Amino acid sequence: MKFETKVIHAGVHPDPSTGAIMTPIFQTSTYVQKSPGSHQGYEYGRTKNPTRTVLEENLAALENGSDAITFGSGLAALDAILKLLKPGDHVVSTNDLYGGSYRLMVQLYERYGIEFSFVDFGDDKAVIQAITAQTKLLWIETPTNPMLSIIDIKKTVDTFGNKDLLVCVDNTFASPYLQNPLDLGANIVLHSATKYINGHSDVVLGAVVVNDSAIAKQLRFIQNASGAVPGPQDCFLTIRGIKTLHVRMDRACQNAAYIALQLKNIDEIANVYYPGFESHIGHQLAKSQMRQFGAMISFDLKDNTAAAANAILAKTKLFALAESLGGVESLIGHPSTMTHAAIPKTEREKIGLTDSLIRLSVGIENQEDLWADLKQAIG
Ligand SMILES: *Cc1c(COP(=O)(O)O)cnc(C)c1O
Repeated sequence: MKFETKVIHAGVHPDPSTGAIMTPIFQTSTYVQKSPGSHQGYEYGRTKNPTRTVLEENLAALENGSDAITFGSGLAALDAILKLLKPGDHVVSTNDLYGGSYRLMVQLYERYGIEFSFVDFGDDKAVIQAITAQTKLLWIETPTNPMLSIIDIKKTVDTFGNKDLLVCVDNTFASPYLQNPLDLGANIVLHSATKYINGHSDVVLGAVVVNDSAIAKQLRFIQNASGAVPGPQDCFLTIRGIKTLHVRMDRACQNAAYIALQLKNIDEIANVYYPGFESHIGHQLAKSQMRQFGAMISFDLKDNTAAAANAILAKTKLFALAESLGGVESLIGHPSTMTHAAIPKTEREKIGLTDSLIRLSVGIENQEDLWADLKQAIG
């Protein structure tokens, strides 16, 4: 099955008891057993739920994995991945990552004796130097948030990965429609399904996808033991959102390409970060590992102050000032005070995340309406 067919059909079957074509919301905490231990595969709602099963089978198919395991949020999914580790283990992570992921790693997991190094994955030497005998996991995000750098997934796997060193990719920004890290050899894929996968800004949900039954078994154990499961209604909404993932992504990517080009011609702007530009350092790599360039754009200003950025944020009307991304509606945000406030200023500045940096999540509205809104806010 091709992607456009999988989003609609993979894992989805008419309900056997009624013929309902759409997956029912199984709003139940428990399941009646015929006799102790004799049941239809479902015993208790934390362990398994039929609506969740459909979502997990669908997500596994979209990432060409064997198993998807879903959670109450993207960070709950990351939490489950980190629980694969034990005290003394070490993680090498990209230094350009989602602020909440950084917070979970540093402010919670360091307390439990897990160690983290944050390095630039564009610099092989820095990665090699950071890896120790204790390193068990490499954590990358690509495109990165918010600088939209591209990390070479296959090279990361081939150069650094091995059976004792798992390569994990946060694929939230690309979505499974644009990029499939497991196909490039990664061991674990994380999604904040809150973003493009659900796509309608009405659900918070996370997923981990793997192609290895032993890791899947451990993650299922953690899912059940820790219990951060998504509710059936959120699973239903996500299944519904996924059905249009390819259509939404195509339009959002087209709109972003148009907006990025317009931004380049504006005097007040210092840098536009968008992997679709030939001048972007990761452009060729993006072309080879992604199907399109995504719908996220960041830019900063010649007047490199938070005040100058705030003046723009205050004036957009269609681009709503909000955290998050990947919905049908366009959003605008200020990473240094919003999504990335948890990262110290010195760390932010190392990666070019300046005080005037503005991040756009381009939605699927009319592109000229979107540009008119931005232009009046900047000009
Ligand atoms: C939002 C986000 C997360 C966290 O997901 P939640 O669903 O908000 O918990 C992780 N990684 C990236 C890249 C994100 O954008």
